[in-house]
Amino acid sequence: MSTAKSQTVSRKLLAGVRDVMAGEGSAQARLDRTTGLIAASMEADVCSIYVRRAGDVLELFSTQGLRPESVHVTRLRIGEGVIGAIAARAQPMAIANVRNHPSFAYRPETGEEPFHSMLGVPVLRAGRVVGIIAVQNREHRRYADEEREILQTIAMVLAEMVAGGDLVSRDELAPTEGDALRPLRVEGVCYSPGLGIGKVVLHEPGFDIDHLVAQDPDAEVERLRHAFTAMHGQLDTLFRKGPLVGGEGEFQDVMEAFRMVAEDAGWLRRIEEAIATGLTAEAAVVKVKNEMRARLGSAPDPYLRERVHDLEDLGNRLLQHLMGAAHHAAEDLPEHVVLVARNMGPAELLDYDHTRLRGVVLEEGSATSHVSIVARALDIPVLGQVPDVMTKVANGENIVVDGRNAQAILRPSEDIQQKFHETRRANERIKAEYVQYKDLPARTRDGVDVSLLINAGLLFDFDQIETTGADGVGLYRTEVPFMVRSQFPDVDAQRQLYERVLERAQGKPVTFRTIDVGGDKVLPYWEERDEENPAMGWRAIRICLDRPAILRQQLRALIQAAQGRAIDVMFPMVAEVEEFIAAKALLQRELDRETKRGGLLPQTVRCGVMLEVPALALQLDKLLKRVDFVSIGSNDLMQFLYATDRGNAHVSKRYDILSPFALGFLKTVRERCDHYGIPVSVCGQAAGDPLEAMALVGLGFRRLSMPPPAIGPIKEMVRSMEAHAVAQFLGSLFGMPHASIRQRLRGFARDHGVKI
Ligand code: PEP
Ligand code: MG
Repeated sequence: MSTAKSQTVSRKLLAGVRDVMAGEGSAQARLDRTTGLIAASMEADVCSIYVRRAGDVLELFSTQGLRPESVHVTRLRIGEGVIGAIAARAQPMAIANVRNHPSFAYRPETGEEPFHSMLGVPVLRAGRVVGIIAVQNREHRRYADEEREILQTIAMVLAEMVAGGDLVSRDELAPTEGDALRPLRVEGVCYSPGLGIGKVVLHEPGFDIDHLVAQDPDAEVERLRHAFTAMHGQLDTLFRKGPLVGGEGEFQDVMEAFRMVAEDAGWLRRIEEAIATGLTAEAAVVKVKNEMRARLGSAPDPYLRERVHDLEDLGNRLLQHLMGAAHHAAEDLPEHVVLVARNMGPAELLDYDHTRLRGVVLEEGSATSHVSIVARALDIPVLGQVPDVMTKVANGENIVVDGRNAQAILRPSEDIQQKFHETRRANERIKAEYVQYKDLPARTRDGVDVSLLINAGLLFDFDQIETTGADGVGLYRTEVPFMVRSQFPDVDAQRQLYERVLERAQGKPVTFRTIDVGGDKVLPYWEERDEENPAMGWRAIRICLDRPAILRQQLRALIQAAQGRAIDVMFPMVAEVEEFIAAKALLQRELDRETKRGGLLPQTVRCGVMLEVPALALQLDKLLKRVDFVSIGSNDLMQFLYATDRGNAHVSKRYDILSPFALGFLKTVRERCDHYGIPVSVCGQAAGDPLEAMALVGLGFRRLSMPPPAIGPIKEMVRSMEAHAVAQFLGSLFGMPHASIRQRLRGFARDHGVKI
């Protein structure tokens, strides 16, 4: 079918379907007329419509061509049969010979034997599959892209009918959760810490589009372009005047990346194509938005998934301009707002008056999503990965977001709210109290000094050196700024970034960890890899040694940024001493290069290693003769020691670092480092947990690097403990066969007045 012909067919069919929908008769009768119309227009022998029902089954609701007895009888689970497969993938499928398809499930009651080919498309509503439309033909037909487009357009109209509640009740479409009005605790993942209490504002750009079908596509394209220009003007203002203006590095990067998506001609073209099939500009935007979400929303690549949210943000913005929908005027908002959204883009967050925002709860999201980065910068707690939360709360209800404990309380009772208010006030008091520790040494009661450093990833973390009184940055994760950019920063961009880092550190030491990407930390501009075991895959130093230019450029930028100052560099995920030697040789080459250029060399360059692969811990005698320092990455070390995925909540807490074995292992490492006179620190999560940190000091560790908010509590703990007493206590436990001595250590802390 030619494009012109398909557009004509599409427009006629759309107009027909619209008339049927608006016409007389029951919903079932209108649906039956629709299937008939589709079959006739598309020259198909069969047209069937399946609707999703409770329990994730697709029920045949109407058919033209299959046996009428099968209507409301044939049911397929999501994933079952070709229809179920279309639903599971949320993508159209065109199959010339259905019977040979691996997903084929035979349903004798339908009498579908004579029909060989099938084209099916999902009916999507807000990114969720609510039904399937399928056409079938007797012959082994190859359906054209244009035919798929037509069916997708009809699917949009049908989505409205399904959502309207005429076919199945709206209640059935919404996930149920007991008595909706009772308080409910939901769990998620903390993407920005803190405690926020406020009233729910559902961020639900649910646009009611009255007119789906347009008579004059040119006029619609014109309206679209108009809205597009207006949207860009508004974005410019937002970025120029928003609360993050003047912010550094990452915010600019986030906004730039967003703007690049906004300017990408691809999605505008897709919207225009949808208009050409007979939709209004609004309906075309929704169609493209839904398709993007369905197609990319489940992509394994987290970067792609994040860009879907940027696109949704933009799509909603475009709709606002098309429909003249009002903005979230400050006067309409409650005084304390907790946004609840499926997901949102950074600009959408900035649309709200940030002085009123007390928290964000997302059904999706990730730590590196743009909205999380912006929220952290604004100190707004964010809880993500809370399934179906949008359906569990209503606008104006009370809600508590407890970032630290990765939970939210919906509709908390008065006394629970009171308790959280007290906790928040106590937190603020404690925060204020920690300020008094800022200039005090982290010295144990028996006079042992412990150096406390922060882990940093983004530039705003560096402010915390000053506010916490930390001794410096023990782990600067250089990959983080790479992850929020839209392209790989060249040497110059990296040099500028590292210069700023060193300036912000104000003379305190910064340990630069070279880029630790790969696995699940995907950079958009790198080739995509599908790895079964990404944590153990092509990542970190493995990539850098295979693609030495990447590491060399980073080291070059660092050497130049130092401008004569001392620098510390360490390599992640080293498993063999030889890998360290090779990486260090690249560093030397860059130093030689700089010498030849007549550049200013760093005063000193200390070259260290992250100890996070157990194999390296078994080669310490060879390693320690060659490194200047060691930093134990206990997060990865624990996951590899115990073969437990640190990101898998089912197992990540199964083994305890506070076990005689793990602590004994760390003690051995510390002793070997001391033997060779090599400084050793711990920079994983354990260093920032008071009980764990107490044990680490007891094991003889004197340098701990942790997330900035942990500095205050850890310093308080250190100042209340006696290192030799803990060491002695631990010594008495090493022989135990237990998997955890956490309770014993807790008891010890309680009995000895250690503030954990
Ligand atoms: C670690 O593995 O403990 C570590 C500090 O590095 P990251 O968490 O960045 O992998
Ligand atoms: Mg690590």
